[in-house]
Amino acid sequence: MVICFLQAFPSQSPGNFSDARPFRGRVLPERLSRLLCTRVARMTRSAPRIMATALTALLTACAVSQSPAVAPTPLAVGPEVVFHNGTILTMEDRQPQAQAILIQGDRIAVVGSDAEVLAHAGPGAAIIDLQGRTMVPGFIDTHTHRISWVDFGGYETYHAAIQAALEQGWTGLHELDINEGFLDTLRALDAQGGLRLRVAGYLGINSTSWDQPVGDRHTAYQPTIYSPYLRLAGTKIFMIQGTRLYTDQETLSQLVRRLHDDGWQIAIEAVDSQTHQVVLNALEYALQDASNSTYRHRIEHAVAITDQQLARMAEIGIIASIQLNLPASALGDRRLHQLVEQEPQGSVARWRDLIQAGVPVIGNSDLPNGLDMEEIYGPPPGAPIRLLYRAVTRTWADGLPPEPWMLDQAITAEQALRLMTINAAYATFEENTRGSLAPGKLADLVILSADPLTIPAGRDLLNVQVLVTMVGGNVEWCMPGHERLCPGTTRRSDAE
Ligand SMILES: [Zn+2]
Repeated sequence: MVICFLQAFPSQSPGNFSDARPFRGRVLPERLSRLLCTRVARMTRSAPRIMATALTALLTACAVSQSPAVAPTPLAVGPEVVFHNGTILTMEDRQPQAQAILIQGDRIAVVGSDAEVLAHAGPGAAIIDLQGRTMVPGFIDTHTHRISWVDFGGYETYHAAIQAALEQGWTGLHELDINEGFLDTLRALDAQGGLRLRVAGYLGINSTSWDQPVGDRHTAYQPTIYSPYLRLAGTKIFMIQGTRLYTDQETLSQLVRRLHDDGWQIAIEAVDSQTHQVVLNALEYALQDASNSTYRHRIEHAVAITDQQLARMAEIGIIASIQLNLPASALGDRRLHQLVEQEPQGSVARWRDLIQAGVPVIGNSDLPNGLDMEEIYGPPPGAPIRLLYRAVTRTWADGLPPEPWMLDQAITAEQALRLMTINAAYATFEENTRGSLAPGKLADLVILSADPLTIPAGRDLLNVQVLVTMVGGNVEWCMPGHERLCPGTTRRSDAE
């Protein structure tokens, strides 16, 4: 893995590979604590935030506790599936890789070596040989308009947009600008079982313009978990068109403060460094020295950031929500060039700097923005594998090689995976229920044709195929010809 990466980027240090740890087998908690942990995990999902925090602490204790191995006693919680003989990239620091995984109903029960996991499978379990293929947590696109702007994306129906997302490996989407009508649509889809992946909606506060006064849309709602598939997660504030700021510091600060005090998570746009200044001031005004880890306000795009702003973001823990297909998304080639010219040297798209500074970073597509960029080879624009390739190689959308400043800020495949899985789950307070593959978590996962961490970081990455997408233990995408990898073929809509 390290060798491949160093060959591709001879001028770079191995970076985060230094903390890669050898695989160690996991000792299972005994049956009672497993039962308790499963219960706590379920409660955490549906509990109000304060209660959820306490439950989350319990759940963490569950994950950490290691009691001596006991005789296997499978829980009777639905159909069992074992995937074995694979490379399981868990995104868990304690156990980054495993060979096998046991799923019971909608949850992951055991992750470990083939022998450990198979020993815990009940007599009726489906046993599936991965034959060396790779499993990763289901991808979460933390900034998209894939369903809400369904026409713009070229899909005829919501179902088609959802199907396309599942085929690409997405098991979760953050819809970054929804209104009352679209929220009703999502709730109706969810009630019919048509929402086959998990959607977090962010209520648009000012539509795409400040030309009209900010409405009071948000006062009629509050952050709500409607079901395991749908939540109203937060609010979205638009700030810019081109490079023009829509508003002044005082207006923005008061708006952000009001939303914050009403209990909303806020996702707010910033592209240029001037906007970052205004946005950071407003967020600091609302937070009043509190750590953002409790509120998880996020800056969307986060493109041009000065050293001083970077330090502020790290200190407060502001989430940087970046488009891994940059340049593309809302920022095409021409605007990116303008930005590079107008901003201080080294301040544009500083992804590696953000990660190294300790800023919580999430990666996304902003689809269907950027759909017009020409990407002729490999998976479609906005697919997680495409984003991974772009993040690692920094190749332009049309295949042109990266400029030196872009390559300086390239991230590793492992980092890119984290931004679309466990970090993405953090952005909606769900890092204890999904985003990684660990006992007690939801069985949201993807089977890939190859391991993105070990193949050369070039065009070969674009050949990695999504063979299976599973959401909550249901197979929602099974690539034709790979039915052998798909237990049952229950889809959520069939099950209900
Ligand atoms: Zn957007």
